[in-house]
Amino acid sequence: IGQLKDEILLKKNHLLTSRDWSSTDFPWSKKVKEVLNLVFKLNEFRPLQHETINAAMSNEDVILIMPTGGGKSLCYQLPALLKCGVALVVSPLVSLMEDQLMALKALDVPAAMLTATSTKEEVKSIQDAMLNKNGKLKLLYVTPEKLAKSKSFMTKVQKMYGLGRLSLIAIDEVHCCSQWGHDFRPDYKFLGILKGMFPDVPILGLTATSTSRITVDVQKMLCIQGCLVLRASFNRPNLYYEVRTKASSQEECLQAVEDLLKTRYCSQSGIIYTTSIKDCEQLMHGLRNRKLRVGCYHANLEAPLRSKVHAKWLSGEYQAVVATIAFGLGIDKPDVRFVIHYSLSKSMENFYQESGRAGRDNKRAECILMYRLSDVFRISSMVFTQQTGLQNLYRIVEYCLDASRCRRAIIASHFDEAWDSQDCNAMCDHCCKPKERKEMVVTSFCQALYKLISNAAAVDTKLTAQKLLDAWYGKGAANLRDISIPVPKFSRETGEVILAHLLVTGYLQEDFHFTPYSTISYLKRGPKAAAAMSDKHNIIMHISGKSVPLLSSEESHKTERKIPLTSNNKSLAPYQKIETLNETMTKSVSL
Ligand code: ADP
Ligand code: MG
Repeated sequence: IGQLKDEILLKKNHLLTSRDWSSTDFPWSKKVKEVLNLVFKLNEFRPLQHETINAAMSNEDVILIMPTGGGKSLCYQLPALLKCGVALVVSPLVSLMEDQLMALKALDVPAAMLTATSTKEEVKSIQDAMLNKNGKLKLLYVTPEKLAKSKSFMTKVQKMYGLGRLSLIAIDEVHCCSQWGHDFRPDYKFLGILKGMFPDVPILGLTATSTSRITVDVQKMLCIQGCLVLRASFNRPNLYYEVRTKASSQEECLQAVEDLLKTRYCSQSGIIYTTSIKDCEQLMHGLRNRKLRVGCYHANLEAPLRSKVHAKWLSGEYQAVVATIAFGLGIDKPDVRFVIHYSLSKSMENFYQESGRAGRDNKRAECILMYRLSDVFRISSMVFTQQTGLQNLYRIVEYCLDASRCRRAIIASHFDEAWDSQDCNAMCDHCCKPKERKEMVVTSFCQALYKLISNAAAVDTKLTAQKLLDAWYGKGAANLRDISIPVPKFSRETGEVILAHLLVTGYLQEDFHFTPYSTISYLKRGPKAAAAMSDKHNIIMHISGKSVPLLSSEESHKTERKIPLTSNNKSLAPYQKIETLNETMTKSVSL
């Protein structure tokens, strides 16, 4: 029976997928266009908005996966206006709801929200509006907690449904239903009863991140198996992606940014993202000292000052805003020509979103990430307490470390999107200048690092990455060095790359210790240590042929193997699922 059910669902999904949802021949098509222009004051749809709206108007359940900023809200707001009654919008954060309400208010769309802190009077007036046949209310935002915990509210929704006034149910951040997702929320589980209670009301699940596995799980949780799934592309063809190695001295880093702003981005507008408020201010002062017109933006500034900075940037008085991630919501500047990450983001999602503020006008714009190993540990000690904090961070580290693969292919595979190596069109550093891709066996280096860690432990010392590298390169405290371990013949930079690879692939792991003032990250053997110590196991890392000066020639015969260029090699590029992405970079081969 289970198999039969699966087949029926597959068939249903196939039928749904094959319909032309972009058609303008639906009975409501004319009205849709009118409301888009007159109420929302927009000229045309962005990709998949029209499709989603038509499906919702046809009372189909839909899961819509679209990057942040892509325009998901319109997909339920517009049908809510066309349909009779009230749309229920489930949203996880009160601040998100407030933003939406403000935007809707500006458009004169009647909307309200109910939260744990709504007053009795507010609740009363909203409930009246829900049940009143002539009520004007079109959208009602609620938190999942409200639905899960307030019986009396659920009773009102049932009544509203009985009156035929529940027009649709939109669930924002719908990936929160799934335990596989990166932020599962227990209250979202409760939403599973909605389909049974309101069988003919379409459910619209919206999210920016969903692998196919999560999507299937979400469908199951919401009892909308086989529903239409619409997935917008994450590819931004006009954005050029590049990773640069960041210098070790503050001065050189400043110089690098100054050069970019004064030459490559001369008289263009952009954003420079930093990790902390302190970095943000320092960088701003550093750049101002170099006669650059920049302002800074972070959460510690008073709201009026922040608005002022934003305004000066919009008007062109500032060439760039140096910002923390607090600079995000409400940035709609179309001609952002560059986004520089002064250090890496804390996840691929963050990076995608932040860099994605560039080039909204569809003209070429550049996203440069300045990578340096020490930044990894600064961020890791900030995020390690979050459930998937380290996992998310290591994914962006992999993006930075990758020596030859197309940057957009990595982004696509992160978002579970199919990718063809032609799609890049030389719009990333690696495709622009394809490099020879080589394999390097790093097992013995890993074992050497283990030995240094053990030696240190024997004298009651823990090693940070920098101390470990010092010991490996025969520097630092004498009792931490080991004459039986040869000093690498390659640069310290390469040593850092190897260490980082071993970290993100689980051969090394971070060990956090608290002091009264900070959190320190030490390194220890990782979960894959046993494999690394086995004779039958090789840790193979991909390096780029040209840019990495490596071993003496006799040694390189032993440890390097040439493999073909990647840029036109389909077998290497795309389609890896998230679960297997590691393998593209550091392959563990059991011989
Ligand atoms: P998401 O929820 O996918 O992150 P939003 O719904 O918040 O995105 O929309 C992001 C921005 O895009 C908003 O400022 C919105 O007004 C704008 N937007 C949405 N649809 C369109 C469109 N068709 N044309 C122009 N701008 C749009
Ligand atoms: Mg949204």
